[in-house]
Amino acid sequence: EHETPVASAAARGAGARVAISNSDRVIFPEANITKGALADHYAAVADIMLPWVGNRPISLVRCPQGRSRKCFFQKHDAGTFGGHIKHVGIAEKDGHEEPYLFIDDAEGLLACVQMGTIEFHGWGARIEDVEKADRLVFDLDPDEGLGFEAVRSAAFEFRDLLAQIGLETFAMVTGGKGVHVIAPLTPQAEWPEVKDFARRFAQAVAQASPERFTAALPKAQRKGRIFVDYLRNQRGATAVMPYAVRAREGAPVAVPLSWKELETIDGPAHWYVGDAAALVRRARSSALTGWGRADQVLPDL
Ligand code: ATP
Ligand code: MN
Ligand code: MN
Repeated sequence: EHETPVASAAARGAGARVAISNSDRVIFPEANITKGALADHYAAVADIMLPWVGNRPISLVRCPQGRSRKCFFQKHDAGTFGGHIKHVGIAEKDGHEEPYLFIDDAEGLLACVQMGTIEFHGWGARIEDVEKADRLVFDLDPDEGLGFEAVRSAAFEFRDLLAQIGLETFAMVTGGKGVHVIAPLTPQAEWPEVKDFARRFAQAVAQASPERFTAALPKAQRKGRIFVDYLRNQRGATAVMPYAVRAREGAPVAVPLSWKELETIDGPAHWYVGDAAALVRRARSSALTGWGRADQVLPDL
């Protein structure tokens, strides 16, 4: 059942300051969810989402005509976004700078929704220093046909193996098919080192259990296995942000959860647009206190 979203006073104010046009436009036809309902979701979760999505370069999945029409992945401003959506200049490989997007308030979130955004993805670095990672993400991608049980036990295995080398991790269900196992980092190591660490760790896990995991890119090698997508951990790569809605059937949401909750949850898509009040309540509950926070750096591997 769907509850009425309760936005903070600040986010309600932001809703009042960012006009949402065509709010009756249906964005999720199968669930009859409108652009207005999507804006209500983001207004309601703004306070719990902004600590994660704010002040880092973001990419947007925009589907202005709804999720079943053309969607595109956008990382630069096309010049039409307006003042609530901000820019950080980042050097491309050839040295020239491009304006990447970032937001730092509820108005920014809602301005993105006004531009047709469904999903918010973020770099693993903050705008203050985009060369230094502030998190590692092991994106566990199950092959078709693998049940959630396999993903769940994989996530716990990553948690335990990373704990053995001194990294505390946190789980997030993506709203899609998998789980992200996230290790927050104090920004210190730069991308080449972070990517190398992630690759070697993923390959070591896959080598130890080749029947369950692969870190290899060719799709054929993923048959019946969980693909450990370590490539979220390279410069410019993004991962879906907590409380982002996915442009998938039924409007599922990416949700942080405690390890204890992961034991009992039924699948990676468990909360949907309409569940914002419940999401805000759980985000403020003791089960999630400290989620995503740890003072740690990359260990030697
Ligand atoms: P699932 O649990 O279903 O795997 P997910 O969010 O982990 O959900 P993936 O397909 O594993 O999805 O991850 C793909 C990642 O690649 C996304 O998180 C996103 O940040 C990034 N991505 C998606 N589309 C594009 C694109 N067109 N260009 C660049 N990066 C993209
Ligand atoms: Mn994934
Ligand atoms: Mn992936």
